Amino acid sequence: MAVANGVPREYRVTLDRVRDWSSDTRSLFLRLPADSPLVFDPGQFVSLALPAGDRPPLVRAYSLASSPEDGALEICVDRVPGGEGSGYLFGLLPGDEVVLTGPFGSFKLAEPPPTPLVFIAQGTGIAPVRPMVRRALATGDQPIVVLQGGNAATPMVYAAEFVELASANPRMRWESVLAVAGTAAADNPQLERIVRERYVEADDERARHFWICAVGALATRLRDLLRGAGYERRAVRCEKW
Ligand SMILES: Cc1cc2nc3c(=O)[nH]c(=O)nc-3n(C[C@H](O)[C@H](O)[C@H](O)COP(=O)(O)OP(=O)(O)OC[C@H]3O[C@@H](n4cnc5c(N)ncnc54)[C@H](O)[C@@H]3O)c2cc1C
Repeated sequence: MAVANGVPREYRVTLDRVRDWSSDTRSLFLRLPADSPLVFDPGQFVSLALPAGDRPPLVRAYSLASSPEDGALEICVDRVPGGEGSGYLFGLLPGDEVVLTGPFGSFKLAEPPPTPLVFIAQGTGIAPVRPMVRRALATGDQPIVVLQGGNAATPMVYAAEFVELASANPRMRWESVLAVAGTAAADNPQLERIVRERYVEADDERARHFWICAVGALATRLRDLLRGAGYERRAVRCEKW
């Protein structure tokens, strides 16, 4: 079936399997119907319509952690305490079906610009970064830096894969930036300090392009820091969950 590139539509998908990163972070692998490919750009998200909550459907957005070339869709979900959407997803079993619509979002990387690329993510915010980095490695030749923030209590999802990619590609660097013990999961002052020192104070180079993804105010603080330091607005892309 011919599908217009990137036009959102509804799909009924089946949960194939899960991968547990920890008791509260899980990847869900979703199978599309055989005749219905979902055409998306790395970094985009889908909206799940869940039969949960007081007034179903409960609509929740999840970034695609898989690449368009992968076939199966992967989303990486945190269980939010008391959260109805994430709680529902953690209760799904292989074979269960979910209705989703997508793809959505301008936080994406289809064709990498020929400038240094910097990806900054906290926690599961690394999910949309994963397919973007894969795309950049497959199609460009510019330097790539991935700053993956986390803390001791949360799993560093996809870290082993990033380590492998960085060792196979000298133009890519991956760093984990752990917040000190006691910092709230959505915060990472160490990450903010590194971004400030390296990309604001260290030089006047302002050609880099950034992709930032995190839960809550950390995302917008990093975005505003970089835009305020002279990077072009459109060169600092940000997705706040
Ligand atoms: C574009 C977009 C993409 C997203 N992609 C993902 C994704 O790939 N994986 C994912 O787990 N979530 C993702 N989210 C968040 C997701 O849509 C839900 O908000 C989340 O699952 C909580 O829903 P809930 O019904 O369980 O809890 P709710 O009762 O709706 O709780 C909302 C609270 O949870 C916080 N929250 C939202 N996401 C997280 C999280 N991941 N970890 C901890 N706290 C969170 C919010 O800041 C808010 O305070 C995304 C959100 C957006 C807007």
